[in-house]
Amino acid sequence: MADQFRTGPMPVSDQPEVEPREECGVFGVWAPGEEVAKLTYYGLYALQHRGQEAAGISVADGSQIVVFKDLGLVSQVFDEQVLSSLRGHVAVGHCRYSTTGSTTWENAQPTFRTTAIGSGLSLGHNGNLVNTAELRERAVEQGLLSRNGATTDSDLLTGLLAAGAADKGLEQAAVELLPTVRGAYCLVFSDESTLYAARDPHGVRPLVLGRLERGWVVASETAALDIVGASFVREVEPGELIAIDAAGLRSSRFATPDPKGCLFEYIYLARPDTTIAGRSVHATRVEIGRKLAAEQPVEADLVVPVPESGVPAAIGYAQASGIPYGTALVKNAYVGRTFIQPSQTIRQLGIRLKLNPLRDVIRGKRLVVVDDTIVRGNTQRALVRMLREAGALEVHVRIAAPPIRWPCFYGIDFASRAELIANGLDLDGIRRSIGADSLGYATLESLIAASEQPKTRLCSACFTGEYPIELPEDALIGKHLLEGIEKGVAGAAAPLAPAGYGAEDALRRP
Ligand code: SF4
Repeated sequence: MADQFRTGPMPVSDQPEVEPREECGVFGVWAPGEEVAKLTYYGLYALQHRGQEAAGISVADGSQIVVFKDLGLVSQVFDEQVLSSLRGHVAVGHCRYSTTGSTTWENAQPTFRTTAIGSGLSLGHNGNLVNTAELRERAVEQGLLSRNGATTDSDLLTGLLAAGAADKGLEQAAVELLPTVRGAYCLVFSDESTLYAARDPHGVRPLVLGRLERGWVVASETAALDIVGASFVREVEPGELIAIDAAGLRSSRFATPDPKGCLFEYIYLARPDTTIAGRSVHATRVEIGRKLAAEQPVEADLVVPVPESGVPAAIGYAQASGIPYGTALVKNAYVGRTFIQPSQTIRQLGIRLKLNPLRDVIRGKRLVVVDDTIVRGNTQRALVRMLREAGALEVHVRIAAPPIRWPCFYGIDFASRAELIANGLDLDGIRRSIGADSLGYATLESLIAASEQPKTRLCSACFTGEYPIELPEDALIGKHLLEGIEKGVAGAAAPLAPAGYGAEDALRRP
């Protein structure tokens, strides 16, 4: 038997205007005798940067599953009382940024379904599927479409898994279903007593396994293992399914691995204190900065980062160039972490809500400003203007990644192609558009070298347009594909400018 309950949903109109980050974070615990809901809460806290629209935890105690989820940050959704009521030995946690389907309570995760024999299944998904339309057809044929209003690829997957589990068990159902699912997926799911984790054959998104004294943990990033005191064991391998229960840990392969790890995790998405494929994200970012200094030198007085994600690359740039490193911008860490909408007057202040210049540091200096990416260019334009107003003599912008020219279909919500500044303008055009004295990007080769991964094991499609997982035709992909089908307007979402992409800030910033 399973149960599901909710708190009062937060009105969509009250959500933060920009700021949520893209994709999702997943976390799972199997640990008898531990407070698994609280461990999951802290795990999700460490993964909050991966999704700030909704959060949820399911707990199983051997006889039932309870799911608690809502719109909002982890700290807004859960309190001591709720966490204390979630008792069991298996937990699945999820923090969401919507890359498929709208931001509604129904689309928050873990998703939940019951099987025909009455057992439950809760699931958390990080990534984006690319054969969602095909999976939906299968779900329609089998009468598995959600009746709870969910419009996500993750919910479809849960329905198909639950259907298969009824006669052959969940583990076997997953081994049979997953080879037919295409796209990026890191899954953490459970029935009443077993925790499962699976990673797509390309391993696009990270997923790691950790050990507790009395149990096991799976998480999107190693930083989440650290925060709950779990030791890193290994990555969940691409194409691997793991099951953990009282009998121990079982591993099976459902597909031949063909690794294509997301390069963007290294430069922007993952926490700097995370390790991916054995490489520290912080060290990668510092190294990119060093290479950037060699490739894009400039005479200047001070290297300043755009906080926070530009910091490691700025450190590397300063080290390699010999130009002193300094702080010139102070970030308000709490902007975008509240559900109070800024008034029109406040919103017009734009970037000043997030960053404020240190005028004494900036006045009379030639600055090298290091940022991680340029998507639409709006942030950099406002930033350059702000630094000039604060007295900078020159502003040289250096970007720790190549120009982004293509959207992502594997779990990141970029702008549409038309909105990406590097699509419409050449280097000098972008420089003039943002008002910088000079502009330089890191090369793809430097980025790949800094990650210490072979090029063949990485996805770099947003820079190159070479998508490692085949995409369906235009009409069959897009953030709101399932909602479009429901309304009979399938095909409205073209893949290179999907409906809903870029509707707010092009790349949601941390
Ligand atoms: S397209 Fe870019 S953001 Fe998407 S998975 Fe590939 S490298 Fe990552």
